[in-house]
Amino acid sequence: MIADTLKTLQIEKKSPGASTGKEWFGHGEEISSWSPVDGALIGAVSTSAKEDYEAVVKKAQSAFAEWRTWPAPKRGEVVRQIGEALRAKKEALGKLVSYEMGKSLQEGYGEVQEMIDICDFAVGLSRQLHGLTMHSERPGHRMYEQYHPLGIVGIISAFNFPVAVWSWNTMLAWVCGDVCIWKPSEKTPLCAVACQHIVAEVFEKNQVPEGVSGLVIGNRETGEWLSQDIRIPLVSATGSTRMGKAVGAAVGARLGRALLELGGNNAIIISKDADLDIAVLGSVFGAVGTAGQRCTTTRRLIIHESIYDQIKARLTSAYAQLSIGDPLDQKNHVGPLIDRSAVDAYLAAIEKCKAEGGKFVVEGGVLEGKGYESGCYVKPCIAEAKPGYSIVQHETFAPILYLLKYSTVDEAIAIQNGVPQGLSSSIMTLNLREAEQFLSASGSDCGIANVNIGTSGAEIGGAFGGEKETGGGRESGSDAWKVYMRRQTNTINYSTQLPLAQGIRFDL
Ligand code: NAD
Repeated sequence: MIADTLKTLQIEKKSPGASTGKEWFGHGEEISSWSPVDGALIGAVSTSAKEDYEAVVKKAQSAFAEWRTWPAPKRGEVVRQIGEALRAKKEALGKLVSYEMGKSLQEGYGEVQEMIDICDFAVGLSRQLHGLTMHSERPGHRMYEQYHPLGIVGIISAFNFPVAVWSWNTMLAWVCGDVCIWKPSEKTPLCAVACQHIVAEVFEKNQVPEGVSGLVIGNRETGEWLSQDIRIPLVSATGSTRMGKAVGAAVGARLGRALLELGGNNAIIISKDADLDIAVLGSVFGAVGTAGQRCTTTRRLIIHESIYDQIKARLTSAYAQLSIGDPLDQKNHVGPLIDRSAVDAYLAAIEKCKAEGGKFVVEGGVLEGKGYESGCYVKPCIAEAKPGYSIVQHETFAPILYLLKYSTVDEAIAIQNGVPQGLSSSIMTLNLREAEQFLSASGSDCGIANVNIGTSGAEIGGAFGGEKETGGGRESGSDAWKVYMRRQTNTINYSTQLPLAQGIRFDL
C-alpha cells in the first residue's frame, strides 16, 4: 500500500536531498527514513552538501530578480494551482505524512487540508497586500506606504507538522514575491521530497523561474548555514526553544529578521462553571492527539478544587478507553512517538515527575509485542503535580498530562501564565466574567487564548504563534504576511515648491 503512495508522490528508494525545483542533486551524507508506525525503512535521501546549498542559494537569488516582477495576482494564480495539485494528491500525501511522522491518518489528511486552505487564503491575499495612505503635512504632497518582496526566505521546520508549516510560510511568501529555501526536519525528509515534486510540476507548467522553491535537506548544521547567511533576509524557524534561541542569536547577530515558532506548555483552566462534557473531551483530545506531539498539545489542566476529583475520575475512565496502535488504522486514537529518543525523553520525564513528588493516576510505559515492533508506542499518562515542579515548567514532547488544582480564578490565571512558554491556552467556563477576565489584558499571556475549546488545533485564518519562549512569531492568517515583505514609505511632491517637513526653512 505504501509502495503505491510513494510512486504517486514520485519518491524513489534513494532521493537526492537538494533541489531548485526541476533540478535535483545532493552530495551530502545519506539519511534514512524509518517509519515509527512499524519500524520499516521507507526510503533514503542524500543530504545537501555545502556546495549544493550554495547552488540552491545562487539559483534563488537569480530567481528572485525575476519572480518579484511578476504581478502578485499572477503569482497567486500559481499558488491556486498548487492548491489544486494538493487536492489531487491529498490522499497520497496525507498517507505519507501519517506513515513517516506517525500521526493518525485523519490528522495526515487534515494536515494536507491545511495546506489547501492556506493556498486559498494566499490567492485572495495576492489581490490585497495593502499599505495605508496618510495625509501629508506639506501642501501638494502625497504620502503612502507600500510593501515590496523581501528576498529569500529560509524555512526551518519541525518533524511534527512535516508539510503544513512549510506551506504556511511558502504560500504567503510566494504571493508576496519572495523565493523560499526549505530545510525540513531530518526526521521527515520524504514528506519534503514529495512537496517539492508537487510544486515543481506546477511551477514548470507556469514557467516559474527555477529556484523559487529551493530544498536543502540536512540536519542542524544545514539550518545553521541558513541562519548565518546574510543573503537570507528572513529565517522562519519552527521547532524547540533550544533551536530557536540558537537561530534567533545567529540571525540577530547579522541583523536579519527571524520568525520564531517554538515550544509550548499549554494549559486548560477548568472552572466549576464549565460544561464538563466539553471540558473532558477537549482535554483528552488536546493531551493525547498526535501522541502529545503538537506544539499546542494540552500539557497542564488547572482544575477548580470543587470539581477536581470528579474531573480526575472522568479522565481516568476516558484514558482507559483509548486504543493505542497503528495510526493508519482509524479505530486507534493514539499512534507512536517519532522515534526511540522521544520515548527515552518521555520515560525520563515520568521519572523526574515522580522524583519531584508527582503521583501518577494513569501510569505510563512503553508498549511491546505485536503491532508495537517499532518501539515507539507509549501509554498516555496523567500525573497529579504542582505548578512549580521543574518538569511541569518544561515541554516534554509526549502524552504526559499534569493535573493542578486552584481555588480562585486569579490563581488559575497566575498558574496558567507561570511558565516560560506562551503559545496556547484555554478556559472552560460558562461564566461570562471569568471568560472575559481570561481574555483581558490581565488574563492569559499566550498568543492563542480560547474559550470552551481546547488548546490544540488552530484554523489558518488567524495569526498563529506565541509569546515568551515560544518566540513571538506569527504565521498563517490575519496580517502575518507582512513579515515576508519590506515596508516602504513614499512621499511625492507634485507642487512647484519644496516645503520642508516640520516647517523648517532652508533659503538660498
Ligand atoms: P527541533 O528543534 O529539534 O528541530 C526543528 C528544526 O530545527 C529541524 O529542522 C532541525 O534540524 C533544526 N535545527 C535544530 N537545531 C538547529 C540550530 N541550532 N540551527 C538551525 N536549525 C536547527 O524540533 P523538533 O523536535 O523537530 O520539533 C518539536 C518542537 O517544535 C517542539 O518544541 C514543538 O513545540 C515545536 N513546534 C512549534 C510549533 C509552533 O508553531 N510554535 C509548531 C510545531 C512544532
